[in-house]
Amino acid sequence: MEQTIDENDDFTEKQQDWDESDVGKRIIKRVTINGTYLNELIVQVFCRFCGAEFIGPSREAGGFLGGHECLHSWEIAQEMNREDGLTE
Ligand SMILES: [Zn+2]
Repeated sequence: MEQTIDENDDFTEKQQDWDESDVGKRIIKRVTINGTYLNELIVQVFCRFCGAEFIGPSREAGGFLGGHECLHSWEIAQEMNREDGLTE
């Protein structure tokens, strides 16, 4: 079977506690209750609304961004409802 992963990629076996030095590395294998993740990239992302930051597996970074976006959309909607005077 052909190796599809770049040989220059850095791998880590860390399962938690990722920090800046791990960004860009791949987690060889990560087992969760939802499934087993292989060759997952560690990324650093931040929320453009509140500035919170996250370092971790791509999958969790997506959840972080989606979760923040969802919350902040809700906050904005609440704010707009208050300002348009439609709520009693
Ligand atoms: Zn946020």
